[in-house]
Parts: sequence; structure tokens; C-alpha cells
Amino acid sequence: MERGHEPAPGADVPIIDGHIDVLQKLLANEDDPVRAFLTGRASGHVDLPRALEGGMHSAFFAVYPPRDRQDTLDDEARVDRARARVDASIRLLARIEEGGRGTFRRITDIERLEDCLRSGRLGAILHFEGLDPIGSDIEMIEEYHRAGLRSAGLVWQRDNKLACAATSGPASSDCGLTPLGRRVVHECNRLGILIDLSHINEAGFKDVAGVSDAPLVATHSNAYVLSPHSRNLKDYQLDAIRDSGGIVGVTFCVLFLRDDLEPSSDTPVETIVRHIDYIASRIGFEHVGLGSDFDGTLVPNDIGDATGFPVVVEALRRHGLSEADLARATHGNWARVLRATWKTEPGTRAECLPRSSPAQAQASGEGMYNA
Ligand SMILES: [Zn+2]
Repeated sequence: MERGHEPAPGADVPIIDGHIDVLQKLLANEDDPVRAFLTGRASGHVDLPRALEGGMHSAFFAVYPPRDRQDTLDDEARVDRARARVDASIRLLARIEEGGRGTFRRITDIERLEDCLRSGRLGAILHFEGLDPIGSDIEMIEEYHRAGLRSAGLVWQRDNKLACAATSGPASSDCGLTPLGRRVVHECNRLGILIDLSHINEAGFKDVAGVSDAPLVATHSNAYVLSPHSRNLKDYQLDAIRDSGGIVGVTFCVLFLRDDLEPSSDTPVETIVRHIDYIASRIGFEHVGLGSDFDGTLVPNDIGDATGFPVVVEALRRHGLSEADLARATHGNWARVLRATWKTEPGTRAECLPRSSPAQAQASGEGMYNA
């Protein structure tokens, strides 16, 4: 921003975003992903200049496992592919940090999160959508924690050895945590890795709620009562999140905002306000945040890309939110929940995996809709 240039209305509020898929977008679409991200030439919703312009100070940078085009891969091959992808993403984050010369940093503890909130640099929290890369090897979780992992869903869109996905058909609706899944929850609790429930089915949600000693979190989901999709949260789930001191990251994915579940970007920003309003009135403003899903989904035209956060902020102000509630919903609650969940000592540094080309992770193409 140029000196003397006033921020746009709404850009004065710092944002912690609970979910973005920019890493996959960069690896899939850009010849030089580091340069594309840092110079603002990335083709998706997010790059460094646009994130900072929109007020984003930190975000959960998600990595999801490759899709299988056919069901021909055995379990071992699937785990290998998931591992190759997360390793490439971890290396990409390290390269962006190095190339960013202080404008971008990986966040592995609260000290770093608070530094990003204060300093105007962008922070990245490494998040796995599905712990598929560990296969059945629980010790891999600690290894990934050393590599910077601070947040993970047990399962993404496809059932795995830990749990069943929210997008599964009715046949698996009573499929909850496996015995290995329960051990993984304990291990994440021990290490202080946030467990994300956005993609798990209801039986798995209930099991995690019964097993985990950390706040319950859905990084990118909305209210089922307003938008009846299996990725959204029913009232009893919202109540459980409140009771645990957790948070819901309200997502901009149009499908999960609309009552007709139509994938149309002609969806007004007021639908986001409605979900925030509903969740806050049911479980309190202490338990609502944002989780855009930028670069993973279709978002409202009103928002467009990461520069559109001020549009949401101003819509919430028009709706009558106090500045204190606005601060909670945009960043304060995420900071509180991460502080309660992470158990790393301040200053703990992520050890990076060896550098190599991200080409191996580009083997699978990316769909338009990965939410
Ligand atoms: Zn997702």
C-alpha cells in the first residue's frame, strides 16, 4: 500500500482464514508457483499481494489427497501419492517463505500467529485435509508435526482408515471412527494438532467429540438449518462445538451458503451474514469465524477473491455487529482456539523436509470444486 493511501472500508480488520486451497492451485497451475504467489500473478483467488490487500494476516493452507480417477490403486499406492503431495506442499511453503524475504512466514506457534496479526505479513498454518498420508503408521503424525503440521482433518472426501467422509452415501452413515482413528485423535491431542471436523460424517463427529480433549472445530462449514448439505453442521453439532470452546469457520462456498444448494456464484454476501448471524445467535459470537475455501470452490461474485474480505466485513457492520464481535469473528476466536489447542513451546521451529521439485505432486489434475 502506498503511503498516505487510506485502506478501503472494511480492510482495517485483520482476518484469520480457516481454510484456503492455494497450495494445490499453485502446484497444479503455475510453472513458477513461488513467483506467482509472491508477485500476485497467481491465477486463483489468493496470492500474497491480494491476501494482504484484503486484510488476510494468516490462513490455514490446506493440502488434500490426490483424487483417484479410477478405483484401481491399492492402499499403498494411494498413501504414496498422498505423501508425495504433502511433501511437495511442505517444500513449497518453505520456498515461499524464503523467497518472501520477511513478508510471509510459516506459523507453528502462537508467537508467530500474533506476530503476523501485528506486523502485516502473511502467515501460513499447515493443514492436511485428511490424514491419508500417514496410512496406518501413527508415528508419521509426529514426523509431520516436526515438518510444521498444526491442523488436520481425519478424512477428506473419501473414507479412509481413520473415519468416513460427510459426502459418503447413506450406507456408511453409521460408520464412525475406526480403532486407528481413535488412536490418531489421542495422538493429535498429545501433539497439539488441531482436529478439523468439516469433512467427517456425523457418526465420526460424535466419536471425536467423545474422545478428543481439544476444542471441536469445523474450519469451513456452515449451518445445516439454512443450507441442508451434509458438509454443513446440524444444531446439535453447533452446540457441541460451543460446549467444547471450539469454532465454526463460516465458508464462502456458494453451495453451502444457499438454501437451494445451487452452485451459483450469483449469491449475495448477505448469505454469509445470515450463516454467521444464525451460528452466533445459537452458540455465541465466541464460536464463529471465517473459513473461506478460496481456491477450492466457487465463491460469491460479490467477493470475487481474497481482496473481497472487506465486502464481508462491511456487510457485517451494516448488519449491526459491534466492533468487538467483528474482531472476534474475523480473527479473535481463531487465535483463542489455536492457543487452547497447540501445545508447542513458543519459538519451536518447523524442520523442513529436504528440497526437491514439486513436479511429482503435479501428476494428478485438479477439479474445479474441491471444497
Ligand atoms: Zn474442504
